[in-house]
Amino acid sequence: MHVTSDSTQLRELGYTGQVRLRGPLAERVADAAATYGGLAIDDVLKGFRREAGLPAPGADMAGWASRTTEATFGQWASGLARLGAALDDDSLRQRAVDLVDGWAATLPDSGDARMRSYGLEKVFCGLVDTAVHTGYQDSLRVLERVADRAAETLDRSRRPATPTDRDGRQPAGLLEWYTLAENLYYGHLAGGDAALADFARIWHYDAYWDHFERTPAPGQAWDVPVWLHAYSHVNTFASAAAAHAVTGDDRYLRILRNAHDWVTITQSYATGGYGPGEWSLPDDGSLGRALEWRTDTAEITCGSWAAFKIATYLVTATGQARYLDWAERIVHSGIGATPPVRPDGRTPYYADYRLGTATKLPHWDAWPCCSGTYLQNVAHLADLVYFAADDGLAIGLFVPSQVAFAYGGRQVTVRQETTFPSADDVRLRVSAESPVEMTLRVRVPDWSTGLSLTIAGRDIPAPVHDGWAVIRRTWIPGDELTVTAGARLRALPVDRFHPHRVALAHGPVVLAQEADFSAPFAAGAPLEVIDIERLLVRRDDTLTFQPAYRGATEQPIGSFRPLALVPERRPYRVYHDLDAPRLI
Ligand SMILES: [Zn+2]
Repeated sequence: MHVTSDSTQLRELGYTGQVRLRGPLAERVADAAATYGGLAIDDVLKGFRREAGLPAPGADMAGWASRTTEATFGQWASGLARLGAALDDDSLRQRAVDLVDGWAATLPDSGDARMRSYGLEKVFCGLVDTAVHTGYQDSLRVLERVADRAAETLDRSRRPATPTDRDGRQPAGLLEWYTLAENLYYGHLAGGDAALADFARIWHYDAYWDHFERTPAPGQAWDVPVWLHAYSHVNTFASAAAAHAVTGDDRYLRILRNAHDWVTITQSYATGGYGPGEWSLPDDGSLGRALEWRTDTAEITCGSWAAFKIATYLVTATGQARYLDWAERIVHSGIGATPPVRPDGRTPYYADYRLGTATKLPHWDAWPCCSGTYLQNVAHLADLVYFAADDGLAIGLFVPSQVAFAYGGRQVTVRQETTFPSADDVRLRVSAESPVEMTLRVRVPDWSTGLSLTIAGRDIPAPVHDGWAVIRRTWIPGDELTVTAGARLRALPVDRFHPHRVALAHGPVVLAQEADFSAPFAAGAPLEVIDIERLLVRRDDTLTFQPAYRGATEQPIGSFRPLALVPERRPYRVYHDLDAPRLI
């Protein structure tokens, strides 16, 4: 697929400090800023200092961070730098710089990071992001030193993963080596030396990526390797994106687009999460069957991060709004439905969608991998909401927020007033010192049953291009565009082999059934003969739905509400067999 000259050109805005979130997402961001901004620098660095024979004040950390914080250190630095940029908060930016400086002081003269591929890949990310999002160029010099040394010492076996070695760690402990290229490339793009790009090229995963150059013929299954480690085999495509950013070679973009479609069509649940038991799956019904069995349905936190990166790259590289559909599901029902990371390191890890009952539980160890990606995810939320265009602005997600930007020589603010997803209306208020001719693009989501646009009660015609409803006009200060999104109840089959095993959703929001003292929901009939809107009655102006048939007195059919609103430890059900009513 070629990106043509009339394709929509968009740029990210979330890390400029111009986007302000409000409502539940802003609360999540503030909570993460407090938790991670509250980590003591000495505690985070203690293990590295101890191993370097340096004075190591501070307290030991628990769980995955008990020897050193190698498993997440780079992501914490990255996340603090990103969050500092998103919120325009110098104290958070400074914490990223302090972590980088403190860690660099533990390095020997050789630049040996004393890490294997897994921690090293994250350190590369932290060093690049600290440079990009705080302007601290010394961070790139540290990256060059560490990468130079790694280029001499790191084992280059690069064995493709197999079902018995699913993250490619044999023979030398190089797990997830196929994710190393990404941040080496971005380090070069940020101003690091050419050796970074040369070293990045070593870690291409052609043995896997090549399978995604083509999509299957109609009626054929995807011919791609499966039964591999799910998250890292999605995250590796972020390296293909970086290879595209550096080389401009269309091949990488084609691979990335096809990989996106493969993940969303064959690997993902309704929430956007993927990888039961952390496996990638054949397109043979395994996805639906896993719901009978596994409680580790999706590595939701790390999985969300890979999805956000891929979606963001594709939106800006192709201009197409459809690449935000996956990210939006994750914002509402993936990372957005997890409890936050706690100051003691308790972290959301697996999302549980098992049939019968499921619960939200933190990981059994403190500070796991997902404590790194949690912060990065939260920092990235603002980046998904608005995109800049030369002729105006694109609205990617419907969330209470505002963006201020310079356009046509003046300052323009666009503010979203909405309680979406509870309400279907979004009011976009344009403010400027004087009338401004500008194009607003509003994403037409995959779940919309019909998007309508009005100003002062009058319909506004808006041709759809690249998945955006395009409104070009002279905006009078105070103009308010009302978007009616067209969200309705939906039943989403888990895969094509289980057409009646469905999650219920309203627009992008996955609904969970209360499962305490309640019976499962079933229509007693296949999906194609039922009207889901008649089976569920909306109870109030929140997204709470009552089944029309209430069931037994003591075990009524449980009501539904957004998965994000289910508290920790309370039982819920995400998937239901519509054609198989059952009590047991
Ligand atoms: Zn994880």
